[in-house]
Amino acid sequence: MEQIDFEKLKERPHLFILGAGATKATIPFGDINGLKSPVMEDFLAITGLSYILKDITIRTASNNIEDIYSELYETNQLELKDEIEKGIISYYSKMQIPAKPTLYDYLILFLRSKDCIATFNWDPLLLQAYNRVNQITKDLPQLIFLHGSVAVGLCKTCMRYEPLQNVTCSKCGKPLVMSKLLYPVKNKDYQSDIFIRHSWSELEDYLERAEILTIWGYSAPKSDVAAREIMYKAFSKVFRRLDLIEIIDIADKKSLSKNWEDFAEKTNYHFDIKENLLDTYIGKYPRRSIDAYVKSQLEGNWNCIPWEINPNMTFDELAGFIMPLLKQEETKSSAGAPSGSCR
Ligand SMILES: [Zn+2]
Repeated sequence: MEQIDFEKLKERPHLFILGAGATKATIPFGDINGLKSPVMEDFLAITGLSYILKDITIRTASNNIEDIYSELYETNQLELKDEIEKGIISYYSKMQIPAKPTLYDYLILFLRSKDCIATFNWDPLLLQAYNRVNQITKDLPQLIFLHGSVAVGLCKTCMRYEPLQNVTCSKCGKPLVMSKLLYPVKNKDYQSDIFIRHSWSELEDYLERAEILTIWGYSAPKSDVAAREIMYKAFSKVFRRLDLIEIIDIADKKSLSKNWEDFAEKTNYHFDIKENLLDTYIGKYPRRSIDAYVKSQLEGNWNCIPWEINPNMTFDELAGFIMPLLKQEETKSSAGAPSGSCR
């Protein structure tokens, strides 16, 4: 058998995939003005859009936005469908991240530029967090928006994206347009919009290469069948038995295991379920998750002592905590990877 190159494994990315549960955990008391982040089940009630359906009868008895939106789409009730879309954009455009550091700030700072966060969420909070923690370091993970986001602006001339709040493209000066949002219907079109297509091919690339895949608050709902298929195909393309899957979710552990069984099987059941971000590898080994995993689990080194992270740090405290790690990254290796260090 070919010998395993542990140093090579340590250079591989950590990939996070976020669903609605991640934003909900990030702002448990709502955004800066108390606006709550909805999930599929309570979507219309939380966003105040229930009035759109008050004069019509729909077949589905469900409160789930997937079922409702799909029915409007399939029965060609296009005006109502458009009204819901406008309501979604206007609700999410209002959302603002709380002033103190949130779990999204921790998440972004605790990963490095070789890593990636791919989100299914339309809300602007992840990008808002990114825009403030990049004052601490520019060595931050790639962001991918799998269903678009109200905060992402596209320049169709340069074929690039940046925060919509910049208004014009910082390269060519042309106006930015909001990325197209993918709404919850069964057959989502991942191909025709160039930004969405590009985002998915990037995700496939990270899925193939990731050493740890952490899925936070994403349950692969039934309207995401195609998404799950693409993800599974990319994930199972290569040898996976040394890799780790982490699930962060507050749902019942049995049903979570069942839901991700086919992925877990590929990794020979290197599979962990946690309820909190800070209990996972990046919470214990910020900016060193892959190094620590390979060192402690694969190389059998017992010297990896986890951090106890204070979840209520101010931005100054967070920056102070991160600084020695950044220094170590600068000095340890020209490639920027402090090879094999857990802390
Ligand atoms: Zn441009």
